[in-house]
Amino acid sequence: MSDTLLKAGTVIVGNGSQIENVSILIQNGIISRLEREIPIGPEMDVLEFSDCVVMPGMIDPHVHVCFDGSPNMAETQKLADELLAIRGSKLLETLLQHGVTTVGDAAGRGNVPFAVKEAIDRGIAKGPRFLPCGRMITITGGRDPLAGANEADGADNVRRAVREEIGRGVYYVKLAATGAMTSEHTESMSIQFNQEELQAAADEARKVGKRSHSHAYGEEGIRNTILAGVDVLVHGHPLSKENIELMKKHKTMYMPTMVTYYESQLHHDDGDLPEFMVRKEKEIFPLIEEGVRNAVKAGIELVVGTDSGMPYTYYGKSTPEEMELLVRLGGATEMQAIVAGTRNAARSMSIESKVGTIEPGKSADLLILVQGKNPLEDISILQDTQSIKRVILRGKTVVER
Ligand SMILES: [Zn+2]
Repeated sequence: MSDTLLKAGTVIVGNGSQIENVSILIQNGIISRLEREIPIGPEMDVLEFSDCVVMPGMIDPHVHVCFDGSPNMAETQKLADELLAIRGSKLLETLLQHGVTTVGDAAGRGNVPFAVKEAIDRGIAKGPRFLPCGRMITITGGRDPLAGANEADGADNVRRAVREEIGRGVYYVKLAATGAMTSEHTESMSIQFNQEELQAAADEARKVGKRSHSHAYGEEGIRNTILAGVDVLVHGHPLSKENIELMKKHKTMYMPTMVTYYESQLHHDDGDLPEFMVRKEKEIFPLIEEGVRNAVKAGIELVVGTDSGMPYTYYGKSTPEEMELLVRLGGATEMQAIVAGTRNAARSMSIESKVGTIEPGKSADLLILVQGKNPLEDISILQDTQSIKRVILRGKTVVER
């Protein structure tokens, strides 16, 4: 691969800063230099975008590749693994079109997420960098096993389950601290793992440099998650001021996945969602905004995550939409929302040394925006694929408009 010199007007680094009029040298897919003036060498491809904004490719650590956004999740669970894998790789290709260059799967059935990953890595399917977390670790009967669950009870057994998932090559560990919106037999806020079990899981993951994510609703489940030292609180609604104080102390990252509730509640009266889900979402939805606002005010580290694949949460548009909701409903700045969907999202999967910012040594995963489009002025432009002129993954242009 020949060297590429990209001349950019504004570089949004992904760490909260921006640089004007700068050149990016890409060698073997890696950003090797970022300087005001880099002389054009022989056989260098020059990309002249001196009047455009360049930002890191977006990162979404939380999709469910076994699901496709249809309201009838039970129907999907009847499909064979082979069909889920074929459909999943098609769903991920959509993400690339939207400028999402790294994606984490937040729990899936059997080997499906790993098969999708291998298809992309081998070039059989086209898609973003894909990092599965394997199966969700839950208490016995905590989830529908068809959705992808590794059941464990008691701290020792939870350790066994975490080791099992790590042995399968997962990128982070996903835990269920409470029940869920999408499982009929649990209440969202009912306690599942206790603090000791969560702590065993978080410790075990940390030993091998992996981060832990905990799905939690309600005061007690959220508190258990934070006190256990889990790295990322996922959903976390409603989020009380007391729990925000604890998050500050324990440096817990926060992934509120607002877009999934926001999109789903638009369809509560359509009659296609299961009744139990509508009931549980109606309980939680009005409480989400305040908790996120307070977390933003308190300076909690935000992480973008969408739950794409869940009912009405579609692949592609949802990732930049979550950024917009962080700004519009959560009160974050545009810059904070971008950092949440780049550097922080990378950190939540322990890959911050490789992706998430435009800095020397990082993979050249870049978005070149159309002239005049700047997400720091209007974050919603990222939801329109026509705002994105090029998507570059590992130094190669994978989408060009
Ligand atoms: Zn999820």
